Amino acid sequence: MIHYDLTKLTSLKYKVLGGIFLVFFLAISMVLYGVLTYQRDKIIQMNSHNSMQTGLTIVAGLSASMLQNDRKASMEIIKNMLATTNFSRISVLNKDGKIVMTSEPSLAGKVLDKNTDATCLICHESSATQRRSTAVITDGNQSYIRTTIAIDNKPACYGCHSKEKNIVGILFVDSSLDATNALLKEMTLRILLTAISVFLLGIFLVNFIVTHFLTKPLNALQTGFEKVGRGNFNYWVDVDCGGEISDMADSFNIMSRAIGRYVDEVKAKNTEVSTLYSIVQKISLTIEKKKLQEIMADLLCEVLQLDSVTLALPIEKQKNIFQILTKKTDDKRFYHSHVNINSDIPMSCLLTREDLLRWGEQDVTSFSFSNNGSNLLLSLQLKKMKVALISAQKPAGKKFSLSQQKFIPVLAHHMTISFANAQLYEMAITDELTALYTKRHFHNEIRRFEEEYLVKEKGFCVMMIDLDHFKEVNDTYGHPVGDLVLAQIGALLITNTRHGDVACRYGGEEFVVLLRGGDSCEAGKIAERVRKAVEEYVFTINEIHPFRKTISIGLACCPLHFGTVNEIIVAADTALYTAKSRGRNQVVMHTSPRMTD
Ligand code: GH3
Ligand code: MG
Ligand code: MG
Repeated sequence: MIHYDLTKLTSLKYKVLGGIFLVFFLAISMVLYGVLTYQRDKIIQMNSHNSMQTGLTIVAGLSASMLQNDRKASMEIIKNMLATTNFSRISVLNKDGKIVMTSEPSLAGKVLDKNTDATCLICHESSATQRRSTAVITDGNQSYIRTTIAIDNKPACYGCHSKEKNIVGILFVDSSLDATNALLKEMTLRILLTAISVFLLGIFLVNFIVTHFLTKPLNALQTGFEKVGRGNFNYWVDVDCGGEISDMADSFNIMSRAIGRYVDEVKAKNTEVSTLYSIVQKISLTIEKKKLQEIMADLLCEVLQLDSVTLALPIEKQKNIFQILTKKTDDKRFYHSHVNINSDIPMSCLLTREDLLRWGEQDVTSFSFSNNGSNLLLSLQLKKMKVALISAQKPAGKKFSLSQQKFIPVLAHHMTISFANAQLYEMAITDELTALYTKRHFHNEIRRFEEEYLVKEKGFCVMMIDLDHFKEVNDTYGHPVGDLVLAQIGALLITNTRHGDVACRYGGEEFVVLLRGGDSCEAGKIAERVRKAVEEYVFTINEIHPFRKTISIGLACCPLHFGTVNEIIVAADTALYTAKSRGRNQVVMHTSPRMTD
């Protein structure tokens, strides 16, 4: 079944075409009416003029025969006239209205009523000044132009007719209108055919003009509006009709692009705000520097779509040591390490010793990109306080986008505040002299280790350290030198323990390290490494002759020696004193079995 879309009929195109058709129809009707009536009147006028002239000739001819009262001769004249003119009928009416002579036998003897008959009304209804002589007569199916001519009463006629009368009779001649009607019909047909052809051509032209210059461009605009309404702001309205609609389409395209840009900006701002919100949320989760470092590394990888990132954080009071974290996007692990910029151990991260050295010594611009635009060096600094140096690497062949570049300062600002807070917190839990955690923090941490053991069965060890014969340093070189030795011991502990191990100053020249993992062998190895590092370390302080110091270490592990937190501390302490008593510079593992089960 064919489906007709009736809504199309209400479209502008059909309205225009309909209007044109209506106007054309009215115009052609009026033209036809005007032309036909004018032509018809003109033909009748010409006919009657001719009829009048011929009629006068007939009257002249008839007058002679009628004066002789020769009826036969009169009829002969009428017949001859019929043969030589285009008259259909010739009749003569006497003054009483009776047809006394006629070429049409059916009319002979007919009496016409002066008040009703159309022939009589030609004269009797017209005014004296404008006397008519012609009328259209319908006789059956036939129409005629009837022309009446008065036959004047002349002196010659006074023999038979009273001289008071003006006329002695009326001659009327009928010309058939068939030829005229046929002509008019032919004319109508031709005018109609011409009109239809002109109309069809007109419709075709108007249709082309309306379609090409109006409906097609308007439809294109409408499609554009629909697309923009659905959020497609890149849709281009292509209109080539020129003029106002083309201008409108251009304005529309400019407008949709402007809206698109505005929407993109709003979207970007929205993404920025939600990203910032999630960043603020994530970085508010902790105040601990190391955890914060991991969160920041994850965030940077995610937000800036990095391949890898390295964060270097200075350690309080340890000018040359940096806490390093490296993270790769496709690797879930975090790689923590410590770097001493004075050592020559190669660095396995995105930062170089030169970067760290320069950053520590001079004011570095907040962020800069490598020549190929794929590497970012970001310095986090709160006034004079250097918070972190970050190196971020894009995947091969990728660069930082403009929106990412714009976002970096905002991100940096939030990271700086968080790191600064974490740094302040760390200062609160860090021993000023050695940069190790305080005893109070040690107690908090050992409880956290204990909880982890209870929940996840992850063991831990306590490593108690005491400097051997430290009093001698104070006594020999003075207290300030003793302080510097303690600070350098702190650095050795940091660099020789693992990420996750918690090195603290327990008091005076005693230290304690919480080692993650309850494996006593592993703990023994770490303890031995630390001991050896100290033993081999040469203290070169001021002008003093270089010297070495040793340490004694006592170890106790959970769950091997676990009873309570206090018991394990006591166990490590006991082992330390065993080490002292056995001659110092050694590691002793607490040997007694687990006290409670
Ligand atoms: P050992 O432990 O091997 O038995 O001998 P030691 O000389 O280390 O003995 P002891 O533990 O009795 O001495 C500790 C010394 O450490 C006493 C104190 O003067 C010194 N000390 C403690 N705290 C500090 C400090 O903050 N700075 C300095 N310079 N010295 C400290
Ligand atoms: Mg001591
Ligand atoms: Mg001591």
